[in-house]
Order: sequence, then C-alpha cells, then structure tokens
Amino acid sequence: MVSEYIERVIQQVIARDPDQPEFQQAVREVLTTLDPVIKEHPEIEEHAILERIVEPDRVIMFRVPWTDDQGRVHVNRGFRVQFNNAIGPYKGGLRFHPSVTLSIIKFLGFEQIYKNALTGIPMGGGKGGSDFDPKGKSDAEVMRFCQSFMSELYRHIGANMDVPAGDIGVGGREIGYLFGMWKKITKSWEGVLTGKGYGWGGSLGRPEATGYGLVYFLEEMLKANGETVKGKTVLVSGSGNVAQYASQKVMELGGTVVTLSDSSGTVYIPDGLTQEMWEFVMELKNVRRGRIKELAEKFDGVEYHAGEKPWKFKADIALPSATQNEILGDDARKLIENGVIAVAEGANMPSNLEAIELYLKNNILYGPAKAANAGGVAVSGLEMSQNAQFTNWTFEQVDKKLQDIMKNIFEESRKAAEEYGHPGNYLMGANIAGFLKVARAMIDQGVQ
Ligand code: NDP
Repeated sequence: MVSEYIERVIQQVIARDPDQPEFQQAVREVLTTLDPVIKEHPEIEEHAILERIVEPDRVIMFRVPWTDDQGRVHVNRGFRVQFNNAIGPYKGGLRFHPSVTLSIIKFLGFEQIYKNALTGIPMGGGKGGSDFDPKGKSDAEVMRFCQSFMSELYRHIGANMDVPAGDIGVGGREIGYLFGMWKKITKSWEGVLTGKGYGWGGSLGRPEATGYGLVYFLEEMLKANGETVKGKTVLVSGSGNVAQYASQKVMELGGTVVTLSDSSGTVYIPDGLTQEMWEFVMELKNVRRGRIKELAEKFDGVEYHAGEKPWKFKADIALPSATQNEILGDDARKLIENGVIAVAEGANMPSNLEAIELYLKNNILYGPAKAANAGGVAVSGLEMSQNAQFTNWTFEQVDKKLQDIMKNIFEESRKAAEEYGHPGNYLMGANIAGFLKVARAMIDQGVQ
C-alpha cells in the first residue's frame, strides 16, 4: 500500500489524462517507488512536488506538412514536451514512428527527468517527435519532412533552453537535416541538437553510448552480485542503434548474443552472433534499411521467427532494446522459467508493471531503463560540453567518462535502495536518487 498522497496524485493524473495510458503507466511506476521518501520528507508534500512534477512545464503540438516525391502533400503531427528544467536545460530525444502520440511523448519526457538527473550532468527532462514513419521514404522525403518539422520547432529550442537528440527513427541522417534547417533559419551555430555527425559538432562515442552504457551498467550490476557478462548467453531485442552497440559490447566482454529482432520478427542464432554477422546487421539496418530476416537468409544456422519476440529463447540475460511494453507478464514468466538471471533495459519502459513485479519477486537482477540506458543522454551531455568549449575529445576520453558515469549511476541506485530499506531493488534506488535531486532543486527555486 502506498501513501494516500501518492495514490491521490496518480488518481489526479488518470482523471486529467484519461486517454494517456503510457503516461499513466510511467507515473505509477515512478511514484509508487517513492513511498519511503515521501514518508521521510514531509516537505515534498508541503511543496506539492508530486502534483507539480507530473505536469509538464509546457506541451507544444504542431502541424508538419510535407511533400512526397510524387508531389502529394501529407500532414503529420509534431510534438515537443518540455517537462522539467529545474536542474538544467530540457534534454531528450525526438522519436519519428507511426505509434507516436502525446501519451508516448509524455511518458518518455517524464522518465527523462529522472534519467538525466542520474547522469550528474545538469540537464532537465523533455521529449518530442512525430507520427511520421521514415520507413520506405526516400532521403529527399525524409529531408523535406525534417525541414518542415524544424520550421516550427526552432522557436522552442536553444543550447541553453532545450536540446533535442535522436530516438527511434531519428539517427544521424535526420539530425543532419534538422540541424541544417535550424542553422539556416537562425543564422547561428550552436550545439542545439546532439547526435550530430563527427566533424560538425558531434562527439566521438555518441552512436555507441546507449548500447555500451547499457552493458557497462549490466556488468556493474552483475559484479555486485558475484557474476559477469563473460560466458553468458544474451537475448537482445531490436536491431537499431541501441541493440547494435549493446551486442558489440556483449561480444567484446565475452558474452554470446543469441537473438536480435525488428518489428517483423526475431532471429535466433544458437551459436551466437559473430563479427561478420554484426557487420552485416550494421549495413542492413543503417545503410540499406532492410529487415532482420535477411540475416537468416544470408547465414546458415540462423533461424527466423516471423512475428515473434526473443523472450521464449533460453539464455542467461535479457537486454530489451526495441520499444516500450515489449516484455509483458507472460514474456517475463518465460524468461524466469528459462533461468534468466538479469534484465537490463536498453529501451524505454520495455517491461510493463506486471513484468517488473515478477522480476522483483523472483530475485532477477533488474536494471531499469532510466539507469541502464542513461549512457546515451550522458554522452549527449558530453557533446554539449564539447560544443560549449569549441573542442573535441578522443573516443577513449569519452568512453572513459561514460564508464565512470554508468558506474556512478549504478552506485547511486544501489545506495539509495539500501538507504531506503529495499537493498537490491535498483528500480526503487534509481527513481529515488533521480527524484531527490530534482525535488530539492524545485524546493530551492520556489513555487513556479
Ligand atoms: P532505432 O530506430 O535505431 O531502432 C529501433 C529498433 O526497435 C528497430 O529494430 C525497430 O524495428 C524496433 N522497433 C521499434 N518499434 C517497434 C515495435 N513497436 N515493435 C517491435 N520492434 C520495434 O531506435 P533506438 O535503437 O535508438 O531506440 C530503441 C529504444 O531505446 C527506444 O525505446 C528508445 O527510446 C531507447 N533509447 C534510445 C537511446 C538512443 O540513444 N538512441 C537512448 C536511450 C533510450 P524496425 O526496424 O522494424 O522498425
């Protein structure tokens, strides 16, 4: 049973935003873990911190008209949710995917507040995107869409105000088109977007950051419990940016990746992903933008399971790295039956509340997204620092900082969980550690 205060705020959110299930889910996930903090710090209720933190500073929604290669006009919807800037400029990615709604953007922005606080870099929380689907579009169509999107977004962002980055459907190509348009409209050059190309403001190590960071976090979590990635079999879902670099780091540390997937199905690789297969996936997904089933067509011994998720295959570790709610209760039960010892989340909110409960009940080591995938935004923060100083760091410098940040996030989550009476519950620890930083800043800054 959580305190009456927490339940009241959750009910307010449900009453105000009845059509936003993903946002409600994220609010419930965070708030219910804050119970011991609320009891120990009555000032949180006195200052109405929960009521204020669930309400974004502002929501910007706009029309994005664009013309396809045949001259037909299309209209998509654009979003930017500036959620909370108590500890730094709004920061969070842009997602281009047909499933994007205000609910999805609000859940992502809400989670981003705590994730960014955990990195220790001064960044607030925000998120944006569009229901535009880049799949099957030509480069010229994607460019025209990005230019139209930025012709409205530019009014709302700035290096000290709000710094978007990539997410699903927004990679180096899209950031390039968006940045070009921003630069043209404002006639200025600043680090207003992260994930830029190296040579024009981008940081070495940014493409790798989320996937590598995920595995650094996983390794810390395993080490604290007498285990290591070496020798373990690993289920990875997705085959995009996060999945690609998480797989590479798992292989580097001596683990075996036995699955990858996309929105059409899963490939099962009983003998493990090889370097040659990994290079094929990089070309397939980043250059040709093809389907993961081609991996099974190209390599002997790789099975393709159309319409399936990776969770039914036997392995030691699961790294969900595709999308939200990809591990439901039944999937979690399969993982547990198959003897999985750890789940670390590369994607945002990939496990639903039932799955999380099952991990915790069954003593699965659970690395929640806002801690485990914070490496991406952390290196985005490092990109902002390099832009502000007009300098570039080496890959080794960035990677070392990323490792230190991930270690620190794990330590803070571990300590907070212990301090508030739930040792080993890294979800609770991460939520509490991130929340307290933001709540303290909000109290210091008065009611606004
Ligand atoms: P990409 O667009 O590079 O890749 C996404 C992958 O997930 C693709 O393989 C895609 O398949 C699959 N996917 C997307 N939607 C669905 C769906 N509805 N069902 C099944 N599979 C799906 O995105 P990223 O790798 O950047 O992002 C993956 C996750 O990681 C997201 O949750 C994102 O929010 C999170 N994240 C990303 C960060 C980053 O730095 N990029 C930072 C922190 C979190 P298909 O090819 O068929 O579309």
